[in-house]
Amino acid sequence: TRCFSSKSAFHSPSDKIFLNDKYSKFSFNQVYNLSNVLSKNLLDQHKKSDLNGEKIAVLCSNNYTYLISCLAVWMSNGVPLGINKNYPINLIEYFINDSKCKLVINGTSDHEPNQTELNNLLDNNKIINFHLNESSFFKQTSHPIVANSFQKIQNLLDLEEMKQKEGVILYTSGTSGPPKGVVLTRYNILRTIQTLVEAWQISPNDSLLHVLPLNHVHGLIYCLLTYLYAGCHVDMLPKFEPLAVWEKLLNPNNNINSFMAVPTIYVQLVNYYLNNEAIRKKYPTNYIKDVFKSKIRLVVSGSAPLNVKTHREWNEITGYNILERYGMTEIGLGLSNPFVETEDRKRVAGAVGRPFGNTNVRIVEPNDTLDSKHVLVESGPDFDKIFDQSKSLFGELQIKGDMVFKKYLNKPEQTKETFSDDGWFKTGDTAEFLKDEKIYKLIGRTSVDVIKSGGYKISALDIEKELLGHDLIDDVTVIGLQDPVWGQKVFALIVLKEAFQQQFCADEFKKWCKQRLPKQSVPKAVKVIEKMPRNQLGKVNKKELIKIYEKENG
Ligand code: ATP
Repeated sequence: TRCFSSKSAFHSPSDKIFLNDKYSKFSFNQVYNLSNVLSKNLLDQHKKSDLNGEKIAVLCSNNYTYLISCLAVWMSNGVPLGINKNYPINLIEYFINDSKCKLVINGTSDHEPNQTELNNLLDNNKIINFHLNESSFFKQTSHPIVANSFQKIQNLLDLEEMKQKEGVILYTSGTSGPPKGVVLTRYNILRTIQTLVEAWQISPNDSLLHVLPLNHVHGLIYCLLTYLYAGCHVDMLPKFEPLAVWEKLLNPNNNINSFMAVPTIYVQLVNYYLNNEAIRKKYPTNYIKDVFKSKIRLVVSGSAPLNVKTHREWNEITGYNILERYGMTEIGLGLSNPFVETEDRKRVAGAVGRPFGNTNVRIVEPNDTLDSKHVLVESGPDFDKIFDQSKSLFGELQIKGDMVFKKYLNKPEQTKETFSDDGWFKTGDTAEFLKDEKIYKLIGRTSVDVIKSGGYKISALDIEKELLGHDLIDDVTVIGLQDPVWGQKVFALIVLKEAFQQQFCADEFKKWCKQRLPKQSVPKAVKVIEKMPRNQLGKVNKKELIKIYEKENG
């Protein structure tokens, strides 16, 4: 059954402030007007009356220009393609070449370090370079009062006849190879927004603190567009800074009641709090707990695994149990811990919960000898079918539902390979269904997080979780390297806490590991590095690290 939440339930006035970013405060009316003016300018510059499904790259920073660019492209019947202005130039070049787009909206500001390089790149590729001056566009634009501008924006996201059209192109974060352009339909976007609104009871009273990049589903769709559609308020920081986030969340005089982030952000928030005496004095935990109780109603983590230690520490500081959910650019949100906790449905640290909205989820055992697949368990919004009681419920996670994408951009072969014969999306993640708790636990990316050593299948994420409990360790990544005896050997890259750099002893560390981990999971080699190479979402490209360290290890 398709149960859409009724949009008429939202009545945000058009003069309500929707967005507060580093430049200004923007009402729904201003957002609408700015998008409208930009849409007309785009069409003029392109000498067209309709973009007719054309892809337009949005090369803006994290502020109002990103939002109005997407809306303007939709108003002109085009498809926005999300890129981040602050990416290194070679990555921007990769996106431009891979997508073959011919027009970019180039957010410029007064001091842009890569502006000349970027202009050259666009010139060389004969791309129409539409300059959108982020510091002045809103000041130059007039803002006549348009009746019902909030509803007009909402309609733009909700147009019946648009639903099967391409909606947006977003690149995956590239943790398992070069990023792939994911084409989401307007229907995918709308269903994701509606499912979030329904599941997490989002209403115009909500105010979200936003710190995530806008060129990924998390920052753009789950945060910005969902809160736009629901008539809420969004407070957007240009980039994440721990003190600024604590101050915003803990200020009893603002309305912020929701926060969504990726795991590294929670790690940094917790560490900042625990290691900074000034903030601990200013905001003791009993004060924080009171503020959280009185005004914070939703704190979510996703896009990568949240380790149990951080989950616990966050709870010790704020009294709040982070809601962890599992999603992917290709599937929207697939699994989630519950928003409302009941006696038999709790938020469980280290698990990703149950099917989200009306998504269906299954675990498939890959059968190496036969050309068929063996389904072990399938779950829907409120059912579980266990097909084979004799096997452990551990294998590839596959997803079906309204939020699942249709294709990768310009990659028909890869698109075909990624769906099963019966139409399920193969996530490339390995998961386990915990029968007693009836929830799913993520083991990790099949290609890099499931280490095959001496006949065992070992979860790199489980080892990382354990190693983070070591007093001297600040950050850790576990990978499997080829080994002539074991097939693969467990290899740990660790970053030490600054104060303890000198105290680390590899032998003692091994002993410590042996007391806590099964023999096969104890790292056979450990390397101390200064900083973990994490991307914009705090993720590590393990494929890249495996290449580097297999070479180094001969
Ligand atoms: P690429 O496909 O380019 O390698 P990517 O997989 O990181 O990049 P995204 O769509 O950004 O692309 O991220 C989806 C992946 O993030 C999932 O497949 C999963 O491995 C991981 N992930 C998301 N949420 C969680 C979570 N709560 N716990 C563990 N892993 C998660």
